[in-house]
Amino acid sequence: RPRVVIIGAGIVGCALADELTARGLHDVTVLDQGPLFATGGSSSHAPGLVFATNPSKTMTRFAKYTVDKFSRLDLDGRWCFRAVGGLEAATTPQRWQDLKRKLGLARSWGVRAELVGPDECARMWPLLDSDRVLGGLFTPDDGLANALRAGEAQARTAMARGAVFLDHHTVVGVERDGGRVRGVVTDRGAFPADVVVSAAGFWGPAIGRMAGVDVPLLPLAHQYAFTAPVDGVENPPEIEARRPLLRHQDCDLYFREHGDRIGIGSYAHRPMPVHLADVAEPGAEASGDMPSKLEFTPADFDPSWRDSVELLPALADSRIEEGFNGVFSFTPDGMPLLGESRALRGFWLAEAVWVTHSAGAARAVAEWIAEGRPSTDVHECDVHRFEDAQLSPAYVADRGKQSFVEVYDVVHPAQPIERPRPLRTSPFYPRERDLGAFFLEGGGWERPHWYTANAPLVRPEDEGAVRDPWAARYHSPLVCAESRATREGVALYDMTPLKRLEVSGPGALAFLQRMTTNQLDRKPGGVAYTLLLDAGGGVRSDLTVARLDEDFFQVAVSSNLDVEWLRAHLPADGSAVLRETTAGTCCVGVWGPLARDLVQPLSGDDLSHEGFGFFKARRVHIGHVPVLALRVSYVGELGWELYTGADMGLRLWDTLWEAGRGLGAVAAGRAAFNSLRLEKGYRLAGTDMTTEHDPYEAGLGFAVRLDKGDFIGREAVAAAAEREPRRRLSCLTLDDPQSTAMGREPVLVDGEPAGYVTSAAYSTTLGRTVAYAWLPAGAALPGTAVEVEYFGEPAAATVAAEPLVDPQMARIRR
Ligand code: FAD
Repeated sequence: RPRVVIIGAGIVGCALADELTARGLHDVTVLDQGPLFATGGSSSHAPGLVFATNPSKTMTRFAKYTVDKFSRLDLDGRWCFRAVGGLEAATTPQRWQDLKRKLGLARSWGVRAELVGPDECARMWPLLDSDRVLGGLFTPDDGLANALRAGEAQARTAMARGAVFLDHHTVVGVERDGGRVRGVVTDRGAFPADVVVSAAGFWGPAIGRMAGVDVPLLPLAHQYAFTAPVDGVENPPEIEARRPLLRHQDCDLYFREHGDRIGIGSYAHRPMPVHLADVAEPGAEASGDMPSKLEFTPADFDPSWRDSVELLPALADSRIEEGFNGVFSFTPDGMPLLGESRALRGFWLAEAVWVTHSAGAARAVAEWIAEGRPSTDVHECDVHRFEDAQLSPAYVADRGKQSFVEVYDVVHPAQPIERPRPLRTSPFYPRERDLGAFFLEGGGWERPHWYTANAPLVRPEDEGAVRDPWAARYHSPLVCAESRATREGVALYDMTPLKRLEVSGPGALAFLQRMTTNQLDRKPGGVAYTLLLDAGGGVRSDLTVARLDEDFFQVAVSSNLDVEWLRAHLPADGSAVLRETTAGTCCVGVWGPLARDLVQPLSGDDLSHEGFGFFKARRVHIGHVPVLALRVSYVGELGWELYTGADMGLRLWDTLWEAGRGLGAVAAGRAAFNSLRLEKGYRLAGTDMTTEHDPYEAGLGFAVRLDKGDFIGREAVAAAAEREPRRRLSCLTLDDPQSTAMGREPVLVDGEPAGYVTSAAYSTTLGRTVAYAWLPAGAALPGTAVEVEYFGEPAAATVAAEPLVDPQMARIRR
């Protein structure tokens, strides 16, 4: 049993100690620089509003678990959670629309929620000016968490199982040896440990520096103020509040009752980054200060006070009595940082977690430490999700500030970050700009979404293909033109941001065989589509592995998480070596029925179907450019991925472009790519399926070879192969060509939410929207009528046999 040290006895550290000891890890020591349990960290003063609904299914699950758990806790008979309900008020048409979308998220993730009119809002919150409100989203199970009590209650349970909590122990060093953590050093002595978890909240980067680990979070101050007593607000101290939590997101505000006063939180002010050196020293709390509480800056709050009075006119007779600028953590994408560092084995992060998600996040980390995998998919929170380019302090600061600004904004799922851009560009970037590319950002890369140069190809019917203004926001009729050009002619796709690795060495095959599900022992030149599973048989990711030589493979992966997962499992004897080549290389996808007509004349190599078969890889020349060609296609058309060094990328693009002129070749963007892959039924790992799904229910059983020998997840997946799936990732088409879906909408079976959409796009080939969705197996049969609820409106849809396009593979295999 490992010895565990947790740094930080805030809500996260306390929850984690409880969850670890509940799993039999009893040797747990929790160290805090402050007193217990009002340590002076963010949890010590958090007003404790819990709104569970989140665009992320994972975050919603974390919140639901936290609510369930806290509801069962008490501290000496005093509550830890009270379900007073949550009310999000809309004062603008845009917000009112967005609440309908949010209702959909709630229904997709199983949160009770309903839309209510202005009168009902005023009934729940009599101080509210109902003339100002268009309506609200009411969530009866949301409520108030008392973070201090919930923390202490969990700590007590942990202590009863053997955990030790020590106050006034400041961690000043992290001991390491041979790439492993060995313990921590405090101002009062050393604590050896096999596992160290930093649950240090916004102090995370300081602990990270001691450990040599990047902790990409930015401490920011956020204002919270208390009014003087307000007429009509009266709650006995023991319940604190009876009215629902209230959010006024159009003005970046939230409200809760504190007895006879109202607490107001504001995200409306300028981002206020905090330097750790400027927070009070531990021990300052003796004088009433808390390191996480900075002095209130009233001028920053003034506009919020005016907005508060406008919404709640009775406040005009009150005033702000006191306030503070409270410090907590913001990450580049607003999500937590969970998981073990690859830079230092045994060193874990559990940071940038709200009270709302604390117990759920702690359970995931505890399962991960004790059992090897969390039962909830955590890829959105994984510490390794960021690329190196996203770890610079300047990037973390820019993005953290933006996360703060956007906390309550209506954020479109495709909305790109504004800065820093451009950060990473492919060698084709200048040509893409010349073609009028509209770029979105992903992993720091500029990625063309469509090209205005294709305007002459747009047909009248493309103009109105996506009528819904929300869906149309990051859509263009050009997407239809590019999709059609790919299905009918040939298109060039910039695939450079797709991550690629070289895996080599005498143990390379054995290593990749152990990591993945498909048979990779093919002749050199063979390519395989295969899956990375976790130990529980859940789908982590998918990848394409090209065997280029006996001991040399090129592996295309979806994200940094895959790279780190593979690295973490490399054989200790050095028999397999992994090298990421993404940055120094580039890739063009040449796809469409005319792809061979374009590429063959440029090459002395035989690119016929007989000479260069489907799922084969070869080194060839395209004009002057040596390339590695892979005959694969994620859009479901004949063609190749062509890889070369970044130095010759422009030459490759220009050569293809010149040759394509006579064929009407176009450049096509990610939006067309996404639509075409859905038509062809190609899943997107992390979006369509996650570790919560096995390959069979995800429709990926074809990529599992149980008879090839052992691999990670084999035992679990063998069991899954024996049972009938209870749910299936299913293909839907929306019946009305004008209906839209974008992803995460609830799918109704017999009028009730029974599943949710994972990905969706308008299909130019079919003239309607295609969606993939998780459905109960009974509803997953082709022909079944279901409904997709979009902004509160059900749209008829039908389960379809998949793939919708080219099920015989005739377009690809020729
Ligand atoms: P903390 O509570 O900060 O705990 C970290 C601990 O680590 C501290 O006790 C600290 O003393 C200790 N530590 C740090 N460095 C060392 C060291 N070197 N040695 C030993 N110990 C160390 N969340 C919600 O869900 N709902 C809300 O309504 C809400 N409102 C908020 C309002 C404000 C004004 C603020 C500032 C935050 C709010 N939050 C809210 C966010 C929430 O408070 C935090 O996300 C959460 O409390 C973080 O918990 P934690 O345990 O990670 O961090």
